[in-house]
Amino acid sequence: MRAMVLEKLGPIESKPLKLRDIEVPQIKKSNDLLIKIDACGVCRSQLHGIEGDWKKYGIPPALPTVPGHEITGTIVKTGPNTKKLKVGQRIGISPLHGSCMSCQYCNVGKEHLCDQAEITGETMLGGYAEYITITEDFATPIPDSMKSDYAAPLFCAGITAYKAVKAAEPAKGKSVGIFGVGGVGHLSVEFAKLEGMRVIGVARNKIHLDVAKKVGADNTLQFSEQEEFLFKLKKEEGLLDSAIVFAPSEKIVDLAINSVKKGGTIVLGVLANIPNFDIFTEKTLRGTLIGSRTDMVDVVRIAEQNDFKIIHKTFPLEQANQILEDLKFSRIEARAVLTP
Ligand SMILES: [Zn+2]
Ligand SMILES: [Zn+2]
Repeated sequence: MRAMVLEKLGPIESKPLKLRDIEVPQIKKSNDLLIKIDACGVCRSQLHGIEGDWKKYGIPPALPTVPGHEITGTIVKTGPNTKKLKVGQRIGISPLHGSCMSCQYCNVGKEHLCDQAEITGETMLGGYAEYITITEDFATPIPDSMKSDYAAPLFCAGITAYKAVKAAEPAKGKSVGIFGVGGVGHLSVEFAKLEGMRVIGVARNKIHLDVAKKVGADNTLQFSEQEEFLFKLKKEEGLLDSAIVFAPSEKIVDLAINSVKKGGTIVLGVLANIPNFDIFTEKTLRGTLIGSRTDMVDVVRIAEQNDFKIIHKTFPLEQANQILEDLKFSRIEARAVLTP
């Protein structure tokens, strides 16, 4: 099969992903499915992995590898013991590719926190390819009404957005700032609006402020120096009840912390150092990471029932390097999706 293979880490401008012909993965476990990939979203995590930013976290664990963890596709073959899913059905695959199913986290439905979790495109080859396998327990069916390229972003951006909004303790009339409105952020705007919140989209570029408005943000504010930003925020909105950060910048994390009123909540959807956290303000700082299989099913259902706008553009698989470079320099409106 064709795949975009990462053999050596390097800046995306050096086009480190190479188009290669590799073996189609084989069904190993008796409840495995072989999936013909229809679409795979391009997530900022892949950029970090490819450029070596996350080497210190052991990502990617080995080379060569195939990145990509936001996948939709069609079942073309099933193992002898599959019970729930059939050939011809379409499913989605999130970064959570499998877990031990017996630890303290798996036992309480938090399998995404499992220490033995298998991560799509990290502990095994990912979705920048034509085929992938997965056990049916970790595949999420996609309704017929959803096209595969439309649904793909739900499987990382969508679930990340959903969990981050839940972590922000949403309630009717409360305000939330979404700091960083791209692939994940624009879906957070929609989840937060469903909770009845007043949503303020915050971004550096006009194209992302426009995306926030397009999906229903009540107000948008452009990033600026902290003092100027807080002045504008207080004038237009007052300090916020909560903030969610998707912009990978320590400065923006600091800005978000200071944009929230005392006792408020800041949710971090990015890896960042925490600068100047003032304990006397009784704020809550919370991390968030994708979600469980139940969360994934909820995300697909909510997106379908509410006719979510998933702003995306599709590109051929071979253009992965270029698309990741566009993502790096903020030239992608919301989500890019690769089709093999
Ligand atoms: Zn992702
Ligand atoms: Zn486990």
